[in-house]
Order: sequence, then structure tokens, then C-alpha cells
Amino acid sequence: MKYCSSCGNQVELKIPKNDTHLRYCCKSCEAIHYQNPNIVVGTIPVKDQTILLCRRAIHPRYGLWTLPAGFLENGETIEQGAFRETLEETNTKVKMKNLYAIYNIPQIGQVYILYLAEVMQNNFGPTSESLEVKFFKKEEILWEELAFPFVKNALDHYFNDLKNGKFSLKIEIIERPKSPRN
Ligand code: ZN
Repeated sequence: MKYCSSCGNQVELKIPKNDTHLRYCCKSCEAIHYQNPNIVVGTIPVKDQTILLCRRAIHPRYGLWTLPAGFLENGETIEQGAFRETLEETNTKVKMKNLYAIYNIPQIGQVYILYLAEVMQNNFGPTSESLEVKFFKKEEILWEELAFPFVKNALDHYFNDLKNGKFSLKIEIIERPKSPRN
């Protein structure tokens, strides 16, 4: 951030009085522009022990496989956001099930919140955000072509739970160095 969104003058990075973190502070109107982690919501859409994955039609990680997920919008609940992102990326209206995974990625200021979801119909398919949408069995997953680390963790969790017949909430920290590609 270079300029104040309130008055348009320059901002500087400093720790405000009685604060503990560096903030963008306006030199002119003294507004403090707080920046906080983003919440990413999504689903693990399943049917008959297979998972529906999407091949990204957008950057970053164009052409790689991911679970349907995206930034939570203002005015929606995490469950509504996860449903919406799944519809936008797979073109199918899933039946939302239980909250399944929370991944903290502090290095890049993101929290991923994923629900299990059941695919109820066969009219899923590509959208403006996905080149291809396809069901995968465990042995068919292209582990080297997954778009993000959280996808691997979520798939590992799901297939492990499937094997053990018990699905429980996972809460994890994913270590991930900052990279210009993000
Ligand atoms: Zn200002």
C-alpha cells in the first residue's frame, strides 16, 4: 500500500502507539489501514469414494488441479461461500456436509476452511474458472499436478479417513514460505 484510501496522501509503515504490529499509517489524516488474513472457503466434493477436482483456468497455477475454493465474500457465511465457490468452479450444486478441515497458512496470511460435500447430480463440468472437472479415485490422483499444498493435505486426510471409516475435523498449520508467485 502506498496511498491512503481515505484521503489519497502517502502512507508509511510504522507501529502505531499502543500497538504491536507494523501498520500502514496515513501521514496526513492519521488513518490506520489494518491488514488481516484472508479466509478461503471451499469443499471436498465426493461421490462413491471419489473426489471431484478442478483444473484451474485462472492464474496462479493455471492448468493444475485443485479443490473448489476461494475467498469468502462480505455478507456470506463460510458455508454459503464454500457452496458458491464449488458452484462457480464445478458447475454443480453440492449437498453441504460437515466442516472437515481448517488449515492455517500464517506465512501468507490465509486460513482455509473446507467442508465435506456430496455431489448430487451428474451435470458438473468446466466453467470460466475451470478447464476441466473430473472425479478421481485415490490411485488416479495426479499428486505432482496439484495446485496448492492444502489440496494435498486435504486429499491425504480424506482418503485416510475413508480407509479408517471415520471422518473427523482436522486443524493444521501448513508451513509455506513466501513466494513472489503468490
Ligand atoms: Zn489519509
